[in-house]
Amino acid sequence: MTRCPASILLLLTSGLLVVGEASPAPAGSPRRASRHYAPRVAVPIRHLPDGVNGWSVAETPNFRIYHQQSTRLVDDVALIAEQTRVDMQDRWLGRVQGNWEQRCDIYLHATGRDYWRSAGVPALARGSSRFTIRDGAVASRSIDLPCDQPNLLAAVLPHEVTHMVLAGQFGDRPVPRWADEGMAVLAEPDEVVEHHLRKVSRHRDELFNLRLLVEMDYPKNRSVDVFYAQSVSLVNFLVGQRGAPEFVRFVKDGLRDGYGVALRQHYGYRDFHDLDHDWARYALDQESPHPESAAVGTP
Ligand SMILES: [Zn+2]
Repeated sequence: MTRCPASILLLLTSGLLVVGEASPAPAGSPRRASRHYAPRVAVPIRHLPDGVNGWSVAETPNFRIYHQQSTRLVDDVALIAEQTRVDMQDRWLGRVQGNWEQRCDIYLHATGRDYWRSAGVPALARGSSRFTIRDGAVASRSIDLPCDQPNLLAAVLPHEVTHMVLAGQFGDRPVPRWADEGMAVLAEPDEVVEHHLRKVSRHRDELFNLRLLVEMDYPKNRSVDVFYAQSVSLVNFLVGQRGAPEFVRFVKDGLRDGYGVALRQHYGYRDFHDLDHDWARYALDQESPHPESAAVGTP
């Protein structure tokens, strides 16, 4: 089992740089393409004649892909990235937005070793993404991916593109980690989601207090797997109640007014104790696949 590296949050003089990591790779996670991301729209892909700093470059309306890979792989990355952007905007924001003003850069590193060295992330990271905010708007987005990652197209790419869709949706604040990772994992194949959901009940003695979970950054100890599993479970539980866009509104209001107020307003819970009671009943009964994992995203 790989472990998610610690997050990096750097305050730059020119803006806010946020770096997110993909979730740890579940043991035995599926390698098939996700049915959710079979491209359904025509995407213009332009392979530029000139390279940049040793990279070949391809562009779509919202992504610029730097690579040394086959045209077939680059086209797959381009199509899935554009499709995921549309799907995740529709799911979480309730509408498909216009093209981003600045394309999201995607760097396709040939191997994990190349990726870890170039992106400056800990070994065994599956992928990573970052964005900057300037004057209240997203000024840049970028994703780094290793091409020898077996779940690249089905899981890691959709996960990282989801982080990029969520970037900037919460003002100039970083997306809260639990919500950011929970929503990103829900872009991965159902089998991966179910793996996380089952893990909660298996680690019931290591779970975080929910109030702590929603306010914490990545844990810096062995509990990172539990953090991911519990985040996925809590996001899936809340989405199952009122839909995905309402969940995003809850997080926005929670950041502004406090989660206690937002819980009452959006879900009718008096406090975290009430939430914990209902969530625990749901979360600790996940040894078999739960239908809500397939229904996520339905408003
Ligand atoms: Zn992530």
